[in-house]
Amino acid sequence: MVSCYSQVTPGVADTHLREVGILSVGNKHEVVVVGGGVAGCTAALYSRRYALDVVLLEKAAPGGLTATASHIENYPGFPEGISGVELAERVRQQAANAGVKCIIAEVRKLQRDNDAWLLETSEGDVTTPAVIIATGASPRKLNVPGESELRSGGVSYCATCDGFFYRDRVVAVVGGGNTAVDEAIYLSDIATKVYLIHRRDELRAEAYLQQRAFARDNIEFVWNSIVTEILGSDLVEGVRVYNKKTDAQTDLAVDGVFIAIGHVPNTGWLGDLLELKDGFIITDKYMATSQPGIFAAGDVRDTPLRQITTAVGDAAIAAYSAYQYVVSRRG
Ligand SMILES: Cc1cc2nc3c(=O)[nH]c(=O)nc-3n(C[C@H](O)[C@H](O)[C@H](O)COP(=O)(O)OP(=O)(O)OC[C@H]3O[C@@H](n4cnc5c(N)ncnc54)[C@H](O)[C@@H]3O)c2cc1C
Repeated sequence: MVSCYSQVTPGVADTHLREVGILSVGNKHEVVVVGGGVAGCTAALYSRRYALDVVLLEKAAPGGLTATASHIENYPGFPEGISGVELAERVRQQAANAGVKCIIAEVRKLQRDNDAWLLETSEGDVTTPAVIIATGASPRKLNVPGESELRSGGVSYCATCDGFFYRDRVVAVVGGGNTAVDEAIYLSDIATKVYLIHRRDELRAEAYLQQRAFARDNIEFVWNSIVTEILGSDLVEGVRVYNKKTDAQTDLAVDGVFIAIGHVPNTGWLGDLLELKDGFIITDKYMATSQPGIFAAGDVRDTPLRQITTAVGDAAIAAYSAYQYVVSRRG
C-alpha cells in the first residue's frame, strides 16, 4: 500500500503506513475523505484540526486538477500568482504536517453498513460513520474517430502535463471556456502556432482570459467549427474540422490536440446512493448530501462556481459538519 507522502516527505510515509495499517472493516476511522485534490486535502486538514481520526483516500496522486493549472492568479494570498503544481503541493504538505493519513486507493463503492458506511476500495474495505466526497470531475471526451486511438500519440486533456512536448510545433485546442482559453495561452508560449477551435462564434471564457488570448499573435481562432476526426496513424498529424455555418470541411495540420470541453463529475462509483443533478452531488449549505453522514465538497458538488477558493471553502464546511455529526453520535 502506498502513502501519498512517500515522494514528498521522506520518513513520514512509514509513520503513516504504520498508523493506517491496512484498510479493513475492523480498521475504523471517524471520517474518510475520498479524493486528494484541494477539496479533499483541505477537508482532511480541517478534520485533523477538529482532532478527528481521518484517512484520505486518493486513487492517483494528491493535487487533483489544481496541479494541472499553469498559473493561478485568483487564489487569495498570492498577489504574484502561483503555479498550480506548487499550490497543490503546498496544500498537500499542510495536510501532511497536520498528521493526515493518506493512502493511494481507489474507492469503488459506498454502501450502508448498519449505522455506518462501508467503502470498498482497491486496497480493501473500510467502515466509518462519516464520509466526505471530494472526487472532482474528469475531462469530457470528444468521442470522435482517432481520439482514443491516438491517446498516447498526441491527444491530451491537460496542456500543463503534456504541453512541454510541443515546443516549436503546431497544436490545436478544442473548446471555448476558461480551461480551453487558459490552455491555448499557455501553449502559445511553447508552440509556434495554436488553433483554438470552438463550435460557436464567441468564447465562453472570462473576459480577462479572452483579452489575453486575442492579444497573442500565434493563436488562430477557428469559429463555428467542430472536430469530426483526429488524423494520424501512430502520431497526431491533423484534425478534420467541419464549419457549421459554411458546411466546409478542412484538415488542419497539427502535431497535438488538447481537448478542453468541460468535465464530467466523478460520481459513477456512487451508483444511485445520493441525489444528483446532471451527475453532480446535491448538498445543502452544510455540504450534507441526501444521506446522513455523507458530505461533499469541491468540483464534484452541484455548485455555480468550480474554483479552488470554492473547493476549499466547501471542504472547511464539510469537515465542520462531519465533526458535528461524529460528535453527536459519540453521545
Ligand atoms: C487547466 C485548469 C486551470 C484552472 N485554473 C484555475 C484557476 O486559475 N483558479 C481556480 O480557482 N481554479 C482553477 N481551475 C479549477 C480548479 O483546478 C478546480 O476547481 C479544483 O482543482 C477542484 O478541486 P477538487 O479537489 O474539488 O477536485 P479535483 O482537483 O478534481 O480532485 C479530485 C481528486 O479525487 C480523485 N478521485 C476521483 N475519483 C476517486 C475515487 N473513486 N477514489 C479515490 N480518489 C478519487 C482524483 O484523482 C483527484 O485527485 C483550473 C482547472 C483547470 C483544469
